[in-house]
Amino acid sequence: MFGLITNSFDFNYTHFYPFNPITMSLTAKPKDFQTLFLDMNSFFASVEQQVQPTLRGLPIGIAPYVGGTGCIIAASREAKNLGIKCGCLVKEARRLYHDIKIIESRPALYMIYHKEIRKVIESFTPHYQVLSIDEFVINLTSYEQNLAAATKLGQAIKDKIRSDVGDFLTCSVGIGPNRFLAKMAGERKKPDGLTIVELKDLEEFYSSIKLRDITGINHALEFRLIKSGINSPLDFFQSDLPKLRVVLNHSGRLWHYRLRGYEVDDYATSAKTVGHSHVLAPEHRSPAGAKSVLRKLIYKAASRLRGDGFLAGGIFVAISFYNGPSFKKSRRVSPFSDTHSFTSNVFEMLKDCSWYCSPSYVSVSAFNLSSSRTTQISILPEIEKSRKISEAMDKIDDDFGVGFIHPASVFAARDSAPDRIPFGKPRYNIRH
Ligand SMILES: [Mg+2]
Repeated sequence: MFGLITNSFDFNYTHFYPFNPITMSLTAKPKDFQTLFLDMNSFFASVEQQVQPTLRGLPIGIAPYVGGTGCIIAASREAKNLGIKCGCLVKEARRLYHDIKIIESRPALYMIYHKEIRKVIESFTPHYQVLSIDEFVINLTSYEQNLAAATKLGQAIKDKIRSDVGDFLTCSVGIGPNRFLAKMAGERKKPDGLTIVELKDLEEFYSSIKLRDITGINHALEFRLIKSGINSPLDFFQSDLPKLRVVLNHSGRLWHYRLRGYEVDDYATSAKTVGHSHVLAPEHRSPAGAKSVLRKLIYKAASRLRGDGFLAGGIFVAISFYNGPSFKKSRRVSPFSDTHSFTSNVFEMLKDCSWYCSPSYVSVSAFNLSSSRTTQISILPEIEKSRKISEAMDKIDDDFGVGFIHPASVFAARDSAPDRIPFGKPRYNIRH
């Protein structure tokens, strides 16, 4: 849900909520001031304006490709005010505002800023999780679970980001009973807000927003809800569990609890994923191109999996299209770490993909990770052989640089999927 269903360009949640959580804490009654959500405002654009003061106050767009068919992945506040949004093509942005300045994205720079922001958060609390390059969630401790302390913490983090990281960087902070409500609260005031949603205010809160304001509600879902007589967030909130089950199947149960402030989106251990995603260059915007880039991403992810000593127990793949709904699928698998198993699982799942004309974005990840060091080697000889081949390839990568050798199938995409993806969950190299 979240990013993957909302729209093709809202990547931030790819790794936050790609599949249903295994466990939900439904035994614990919802409580106020549990979670603080921090979302940097127009992050990449603000970083560019931070380092290039002449860009401040100007409508600017950040794009991985600056050509007309490139896609804006961040727009400055000034550009947003002109209707230029994330996900818009460069040529559309130019139509809206001819003089918009388009800047090629600089992932390495954004990562430096991400790390600095992370340091600030770390100086306040160890109980945080990185959700994406510009989003963090903090689980508040019992001392912080009251209005005064939670507000003070939120304000202190905002101030410190400004003073220690960059005076042009602002963020929206939301505080609420669960991640969902904390994020929704944060979105109420952008930029630079600090908003609190309490359980007693839920009816009022849901009355003040529209269905499409709800994180995770896209056109299709909105249509489905309205068709079933759920016309507003308040109706949604007031629908009982059996009704939501009928309307939304399994996710109806999650929605029922989520809307009431139960934590259903925090699955700390299963949240650990290894993955890569990529915005397709024009030459790869075809089924064959997308598959070729996917092979390269799988190759990278599998080698990282082994490098970090993990076995994957689940696989997730997503493809977004310019002119059709996104495809996303996950499956449980018997634990593996070799490239061959990863590839065959992904391609097996892709058989269900309806290929709309132009794929725009691909993403793969491995989840349900376990340590390979505590797991016995596979009893299946072919998997063990595949693991050994993969390990040998990793060794060559280590000695000669990543990408020195590739399976032939990766060749077409060899030079795509560089470190160009400045969003999604930061990669492992930021771990300490
Ligand atoms: Mg943001």
